[in-house]
Amino acid sequence: MSDHSLDLNALAQSIKDWGRELGFQQVGIADVELSEHEAHLKRWLAAGYQGEMDYMAAHGDKRSRPAELVPGTLRVVSLRMDYLPGDTQMAQRLKEPEQAYVSRYALGRDYHKLIRKRLQQLAERIQQQIGTFGYRAFVDSAPVLEKAIAEKAGLGWIGKNTLVLNRKAGSYFFLGELFVDLPLPLDAPHASEHCGRCSACMDICPTAAFAGPYQLDARRCISYLTIELKGSIPVELRTPIGNRVFGCDDCQIVCPWNRFARPTEQGDFQPRHGLDNSALAELFLWTEPEFLARTEGSPLRRAGYERWLRNLAVGLGNAPSTIPVLEALNARRDHPSELVREHVEWALQQHER
Ligand code: SF4
Repeated sequence: MSDHSLDLNALAQSIKDWGRELGFQQVGIADVELSEHEAHLKRWLAAGYQGEMDYMAAHGDKRSRPAELVPGTLRVVSLRMDYLPGDTQMAQRLKEPEQAYVSRYALGRDYHKLIRKRLQQLAERIQQQIGTFGYRAFVDSAPVLEKAIAEKAGLGWIGKNTLVLNRKAGSYFFLGELFVDLPLPLDAPHASEHCGRCSACMDICPTAAFAGPYQLDARRCISYLTIELKGSIPVELRTPIGNRVFGCDDCQIVCPWNRFARPTEQGDFQPRHGLDNSALAELFLWTEPEFLARTEGSPLRRAGYERWLRNLAVGLGNAPSTIPVLEALNARRDHPSELVREHVEWALQQHER
């Protein structure tokens, strides 16, 4: 930090204004004391709820101690950006078993690049104003407790569905963080939670992934099973997955606070290749080059082609026994991947019952 006589209050206000100019809907400032959340993380890890996501346990306490992760950090600027691309008929698609349901955050271009660029632009504007200072930007990064930071920065509360909820905006937003070495004035943490007696998210979860309020057993969560899990999807969870082929939004769709969610202003988050309304059978017939071309710069790339087929096979096993469904499955019966073949066999068995 170059100038200790800075007006930090004015700077904090400018950071918020610039953040909004850069397309974020809300900006808050938190300190680096996250011990309460560190304890919650440790309990969650001890229960084994992270499944194969070893990165959740990596970095030790640095995850919950920003000043250890990036020495010199005094504050974290937490920012949120809405991603819901208008009305994509979420509830309707879930009722159409031949259609694929892709989590709404993943319909458009990958958010990491866009948000990282905007955070960089924000840092540059701060630098223009005050000169060189220490910072580091994070977007959905493993070593950062971003939801805890957002709550501390006043952006919302962590709901029973373990997502950050905002009374005016629901939960369909991405989070980004700028770690800074500036002693900026703090925003008041979100004082109270507003879930009250509601438990709609826990009740609706198709795979009963909530071990209790605020406790998600990722090993049962459809987002984990369809995106993070590398191997075979546990057989007992395949039927409840329904037509969800990449992620799941059920615990958000049902949340009453999402009545207040607003559509995104970002063109990047609009659906590409008709992913908000495509038949499972049609997607299942994409060749690998087609998959690679159509998912370039998309969050779907995280699953990779083999897991994409695995997930679609599960969806097709849960679909009605129509000609396109059976033809698509039979076309992949001899797929070179054992993982795909095993899920295709399972799916075909569902149609023989
Ligand atoms: S559905 Fe109800 S309990 Fe779940 S996060 Fe929303 S308000 Fe909280």
